Amino acid sequence: SIGSRIELSDGNKMPIQGLGVYKMTDEEQAINAIQSAYKFGYRLFDTAQMYGNEEAVGRALQSINADRNEIFITTKISEENQGYDGVMKSFEQSLKKLGLDYVDLLLVHWPIHQHFFETWKAFEQLKSEGLVKSIGTSNYGMIHLEYLKTKANEMPVVNQIENHPYLSQAAMVEFDKNNQIVTQAWAPLGRGRIFDDPTLIKIADNHKKSTAQIILRWHLQRGISFIPKSVHENRIIENGSIYDFELTNEEMMLIDDMNKNVRISQEPEMVY
Ligand code: NAD
Repeated sequence: SIGSRIELSDGNKMPIQGLGVYKMTDEEQAINAIQSAYKFGYRLFDTAQMYGNEEAVGRALQSINADRNEIFITTKISEENQGYDGVMKSFEQSLKKLGLDYVDLLLVHWPIHQHFFETWKAFEQLKSEGLVKSIGTSNYGMIHLEYLKTKANEMPVVNQIENHPYLSQAAMVEFDKNNQIVTQAWAPLGRGRIFDDPTLIKIADNHKKSTAQIILRWHLQRGISFIPKSVHENRIIENGSIYDFELTNEEMMLIDDMNKNVRISQEPEMVY
């Protein structure tokens, strides 16, 4: 079900599916979306310093009034806040805005050359203080993770990367897996731009599901985490209704074959 969790290599458990809240800058819209998602069973909410809505997420959480250990909150440190002091200071602000004593998962939003290791030191420190339960990265490629490994005491347990049928990054997902890192897909729906792909439409017809549901089910069956965004209650429910059917191996392969290596994002900076 939508509340299902997977175990991370640090022993914590993370819901496989969550709600992304990028571009939900209107406070009322963000609160409504989070409330709808929570009501339907979503437990993971993915924000970032960069999204400018940590306060709105905090208000939404207050209004829900759930047990703290029932919900799972991710935020991300922006590039301008990297470095030891930058992480420490900005994280304190994030906690305050979110109205929390800890976040479940803290991610480095993008790999940048400057302060590469100091940033991670701060992450390890926040984890040791219990202010962050799990630490991870976002938009890290193999080269970044290999480089991090040369000095890290603890490796990231999650790597959140752009991932959808047009950018399935099979080798990267495999690399994460071999390093006990859970891959989490951002823009799991290709930001809504790939719904009219004929392969997806055909598979959707087979199952009487929407193309969005087919894509999300594909992520689920690949064993990766995903955080689709929508502000509309009907779509939030639709995106969460993927636990009552199964794609065949052949259908999975057809979607794997849709890869075009097309990125929405910029190429992550090379670090060495
Ligand atoms: P997405 O793939 O989740 O697509 C979202 C868009 O798809 C929506 O705005 C809507 O237009 C459409 N949509 C969603 N559900 C639909 C449905 N059922 N039917 C029709 N249309 C539907 O793209 P995203 O928002 O970029 O990514 C999801 C989340 O990932 C973000 O909200 C954010 O939390 C995170 N993210 C992280 C990074 C990063 O660098 N780490 C970058 C971008 C996004």
